[in-house]
Amino acid sequence: MLFGAESFRIPQRFVSVDAVEAELGRFESALNLVSTSLEENERLARERLGDQYGAIFGAHRMMLQDPKLRNEIEGLIRSKCFSPEFAASRVLRNYARAFRNLGNPYLAERAADVIDLEKRLLRALLGEQHPELSHLTEPVIILAHNLTPSETANLDRTKVLGFATEAGGHTSHTAILAGALELPAVVGIGHFLTDISAGDIVIIDGNSGTVIVDPDEETLEHYRAEALAAESQSERLAALQTVEAKTHDGERVHVMGNIEFPQEVAQCRKRGADGVGLYRTEFLYLGSDHAPTEEEHYNAYCEVIEALDGQPVTIRTLDLGADKIPGNHREFASEPDNPALGLRSIRLSLRDIDQFKVQLRAILRAAVKGDVRIMFPLITSLLELRKARMILGDVIEDLEESGVEFKRDVPVGMMVEVPAAALLADLFAKEVDFFSIGTNDLIQYALAVDRSDQAVASLYRAGDPSILRLLRMVIDAARTQGIPVTVCGQMSSDPKYIPLLLGMGLRSLSVTPLAVPEVKDVIGHLSLADAEAIADHAMSLDVARDVENYLRGEVTRLLAESEHSETTDSDNRE
Ligand code: PEP
Ligand code: MG
Repeated sequence: MLFGAESFRIPQRFVSVDAVEAELGRFESALNLVSTSLEENERLARERLGDQYGAIFGAHRMMLQDPKLRNEIEGLIRSKCFSPEFAASRVLRNYARAFRNLGNPYLAERAADVIDLEKRLLRALLGEQHPELSHLTEPVIILAHNLTPSETANLDRTKVLGFATEAGGHTSHTAILAGALELPAVVGIGHFLTDISAGDIVIIDGNSGTVIVDPDEETLEHYRAEALAAESQSERLAALQTVEAKTHDGERVHVMGNIEFPQEVAQCRKRGADGVGLYRTEFLYLGSDHAPTEEEHYNAYCEVIEALDGQPVTIRTLDLGADKIPGNHREFASEPDNPALGLRSIRLSLRDIDQFKVQLRAILRAAVKGDVRIMFPLITSLLELRKARMILGDVIEDLEESGVEFKRDVPVGMMVEVPAAALLADLFAKEVDFFSIGTNDLIQYALAVDRSDQAVASLYRAGDPSILRLLRMVIDAARTQGIPVTVCGQMSSDPKYIPLLLGMGLRSLSVTPLAVPEVKDVIGHLSLADAEAIADHAMSLDVARDVENYLRGEVTRLLAESEHSETTDSDNRE
C-alpha cells in the first residue's frame, strides 16, 4: 500500500475480464475530470497569478492528453486486466523514474509533475476517499512519505506486515512505536516513493534500515534464509526469557522494558524483563481529544502496576511537545522554529501546573499498589528540578489533607538527556534518587542533530566520542553519589553498545521489550573484564565511525567465540 505525502491507496490490482469495458469507461471519465480541473486551474492561475503560472497546469494537461500515455494505460487495462488505478500508477511512475534517471536536474524535476498527475488521476478514480489505516482487510506493507505517531499507533498489527517512511529518524516516536508494535519498519530513508508502483515486490529490512524494491531472485533467497535464521534465533533466545541477565562471571544486570501503553507490560513479562524502566505516559494523549483526567491517569497506572505483579515501574511525567503528541496545551504553545528546543516536556508541565498536579496525584495514589518511581523528563537546570520537586511536595500535602490513600516516599529521579544536565550530573546526583540517561535526546542536543530529520540522520551517532564522554560523566557522578543509573534511550537496545555500557559501569538498562532477550544474550557472553577493556578502548578512539565499527566487531567476535567454545565443549564431551 502506497501513501504519498497526500496519502492515497491503490485498492486492487486486477479486474475481471468482463469488467474491462466498464473499467475503461471509468478511466475515461477520470481523464475528463482531471482534464477539466486542470483547465480550470490553468484559467484561475492565469487570471490571478499570471501566464507563467497558468502554463504549469497547461503543461500537465498536455501531458495528460498525450495519446501515447493514454494508449499505454488503456493497453494495460485491456491486455492485463489491470485496474485503472494500478495501470495509471504503474505507467506514470515508470515515466517519473525515467525522468529521474536522465541525469539532468531540470528533467529530474519533471518527475514531480508526473507524480502530481498520477495523484490527480488516482484521486479522480478513487473519489476523495482516503484510506482508513485502522480498517484494513488484507495483509499489507505500508510505504508512506510520513506516518504520525498516532497513525502508527493505530496500525492494525494483524494486517500490517511492516512499513517504511521517507521522513523521520530512527529514534523518532514513529520509530519507537514501530518497536512497541513489534513491526518491521524503516523510518526516514529519504526519497523513494516515486520509484515504486503498487504491486512491486518490496523488502523491508528493519535491521539494516534498508528498503529493497524489485529484488532479484538471489536477494529474495537471501532474505528467505534470513527470515528462517531469525526464527531459529528467536527460538534460541526464548530460552533466556526465564533466566536472569548475568555476565558470564556472574555480575547481575537489570534489563527492563520501555513502554508506551499499559498493554505492553505483557510483552515485557513474556520476554523476561526485570520491570519497566521507562513508561512514556504522554501516549495517554494519543487518540484523545482532551487532557487525561486524574482517573484516566490513575487507571492506566494501576493497569501497569498490577500487570507487573511486584516488579518496579518508573513512571515518567508527561513529555509532550516536539515530535511527540502535541497535547492540549494550545494556550501555551507558540509556533517555534525549533520545537525540540521549545516549550516541551517538563517545561510544559511547569507552565501548566494544574495538569502536572493531576498526573502527580494519580501516580502517588497508584503507587500504593506496587513498586513505583517518578521520573521527570528533560531537566536542564537545578532550579527546574527543585520547582518540580516543590510541586510534588504540594501534591503530597494536598493528598494528606484530603485523606486519600497514597504513597508518600516514592523515589524521585530524572532523565539526563540534556547536555547541561550531564555536565552538572555531580550536582544533580545530590538531589535525586536515580538517573536515567535518555540517549535519544542527549545525542540530538549534544550533536545538534534533529532526531527526526532524515536529512541529517547520518550525523546522528550514538558512538560519537562526545557522547561517550557525557555518558561516562553521568555514570561516574551517579557512582560517586551512590545513586542508581540506567540508560533508557534506544542506544541500550542495540547489542553493539552493551559491552561499552557495562564496561562504563552500568548495571541497569531499559530497552525496547523486543530487544530484552538479545540484550540478555550479549550480557551472558561477556565478562566484566571484557566489558571494561572494550569501554576503555572505545573511549580512546576519536571518531564515531571508528567507535561504532570497533564495537560492532567486538560483539560479533564475542558471540562467535563463545559459540565456538560451546561447540568445542560439546565435541569434547562426546
Ligand atoms: C530519550 O530521550 O532517550 C528517551 C528515552 O526519551 P524519549 O525517546 O521518549 O524522548
Ligand atoms: Mg527524551
